[in-house]
Amino acid sequence: MGNSFNMNAKELITKERERQKTLWSISHDDQYIDGELSMGAFAYMNNSIVWWPNNWDKGMFKPSTQKRNLEKGGALLLAEKERLERALNHVNTDLDITIKRLETELLKEESERCNVPPPGWKCSREVGHDGPCAASKQF
Ligand SMILES: [Zn+2]
Repeated sequence: MGNSFNMNAKELITKERERQKTLWSISHDDQYIDGELSMGAFAYMNNSIVWWPNNWDKGMFKPSTQKRNLEKGGALLLAEKERLERALNHVNTDLDITIKRLETELLKEESERCNVPPPGWKCSREVGHDGPCAASKQF
């Protein structure tokens, strides 16, 4: 990327994000589920410790020039974006697993039901039940 005078804003933020990654691991970022990374970003963007997360060491807030503050704030927002994307991937995976398990349950339920009714009708009683069929039309 060359020296910082030739870098645009996005490159400067990306470079700062790379620096942060050498200090804090991804699993460390994943602990901050209460918006801490965004709060830390707001602290730098507004040059004000009032936004600094309560569960972060206040000595870690090191504002300097407005340019550096914006680089650090932008990099913290990138970290938050990446964390949310990982969390979303996790939710999507869990949702896929849940859908597959529910589909298996539905097949199981279907196979345990009475097979007397015509297509489109369903009986809530078990396969081979005695007495009257409880079939009703499914819409
Ligand atoms: Zn039946």
